[in-house]
Amino acid sequence: MSDLSDLYQQVILDHNRRPRNRGKLPTANRVAHGDNPSCGDQCSVYLNLDGDRIQDISFDGSGCAISQASASLMTTQLKGKTAAEAEAMFKDFHEIVTSGKEPEEISDVAAFAGVHAFPARIKCATLGWHAALNALKGDEQPATTESHTD
Ligand code: ZN
Repeated sequence: MSDLSDLYQQVILDHNRRPRNRGKLPTANRVAHGDNPSCGDQCSVYLNLDGDRIQDISFDGSGCAISQASASLMTTQLKGKTAAEAEAMFKDFHEIVTSGKEPEEISDVAAFAGVHAFPARIKCATLGWHAALNALKGDEQPATTESHTD
């Protein structure tokens, strides 16, 4: 298993070092901001939503490695997905970070399973996802992790 944890650590480090889809999206028609005051993480998510489908997505923000790597990974996962697919993917991701149960198949999201051992960091890992779902719902109010029970 230690090889696998090394691999998963690499995934997080890599997203942190080379964030994907980072910066404002010029074509965005939805934006939502997330805030995790318990750690000081900030994350804005920009969506170009075409009907029900995420044509393009980006994020911008600052904070700890977990929050930024997770937001970067989230953008790669949600691009091209429908709102319903995005919600289902967040459910899976949330399950992984809260239970630590790794999916059968090796995947980038599974890299965040280790977060479950550090309950305070779960909010860091889910911040970008919460912001993305709020943007999908057209809710431009800041998403704060304080109002969620995770
Ligand atoms: Zn954090």
